[in-house]
Amino acid sequence: MGEFDLIARYFKRPARRAALGVGDDCALLQPAPGMQLAISSDMLVEGRHFLSSVDPRKLGHKALAVNLSDLAACGAKPLAFTLALALPRADETWLAAFSEGMLALADAHHCELIGGDTTRGPLNICITIFGEVPVLDGQSQALLRSGAKPGDELYVSGTLGDARIALEVFRGTLSVPAPVFELTRSRMEQPTPRVALGLALRGIASAAIDISDGLLGDLGHILTQSGVGATVQADAASALVASRGIYRDNSTIPGQTIDMDQWRSLALAGGDDYELLFSAPASARSQVLQAAASSQTHVTRIGAIERASGLRLVDSEGSELPNHYCSFDHFA
Ligand code: ADP
Ligand code: MG
Repeated sequence: MGEFDLIARYFKRPARRAALGVGDDCALLQPAPGMQLAISSDMLVEGRHFLSSVDPRKLGHKALAVNLSDLAACGAKPLAFTLALALPRADETWLAAFSEGMLALADAHHCELIGGDTTRGPLNICITIFGEVPVLDGQSQALLRSGAKPGDELYVSGTLGDARIALEVFRGTLSVPAPVFELTRSRMEQPTPRVALGLALRGIASAAIDISDGLLGDLGHILTQSGVGATVQADAASALVASRGIYRDNSTIPGQTIDMDQWRSLALAGGDDYELLFSAPASARSQVLQAAASSQTHVTRIGAIERASGLRLVDSEGSELPNHYCSFDHFA
């Protein structure tokens, strides 16, 4: 199968929203009046961002999910994406599953594949995604990292740390019971981009970011770019590790146990969560809860933005905890 057959078979579909899709030298995308384009790229490299053993259907999902997550963090509505793909060989079984996984998620978000590039090489997937954000009275409605203000409250969506548990199991540094592995593996391989929440938070959140490298590391970007500090309740965050509930409900679970410090570490520095971390004024609390309800996304208040720079961690009693979670790897 040649390059052009491959593109036609697995990646070319009739253009819908785009003025011109796959097949010419450029795709054409018409932004709606009063809208700004939001653009983001993410590259996934075998061995670095995914394991060679991963199911291609799930890989297709994840490659697009991490890009949709960037749009979500900006409060942008997905429009279209391009796919640059390096493949060691034209494996049709692999291509069919990969494109199905990717295009199923694309369809769910009405985000269309409008072009790309295909070449032979070590497996590498690079997606550039395009979304739209309204401009009102000359003011972009995009959520940025730079808008957090002292007094704002800090929230996170969904669950934290589970993807990291699965990664450590694959690395051989942690052993977990089968139900924990199942749950954490699906969080690692098929993250849920919080697109509806990001859209619902426009005009409410003061700053937002999606968590790819770990909550505290990504919070650091908000703090630096907003010129503020924060206090984070470590145990409000560590309660959000979904698989922790399986341990809680089964006191006699076999295998390695995970201690309090490790739960905190997973939640605060796990990475690969693709949840939204955002701030909002305290006066907007009911609007935040309404945005969560309307997008059917769980959100939890985990801290506050403060004038004093730096990051403070407290336990459930409010006592300050040493913050070794950014640099210390509990599973190394
Ligand atoms: P060019 O050489 O002019 O850049 P190509 O021959 O690489 O164009 O690609 C032909 C068409 O197929 C273009 O419209 C391009 O956007 C599209 N395309 C190439 N690879 C992919 C892919 N992996 N997914 C979607 N579209 C692709
Ligand atoms: Mg050309």
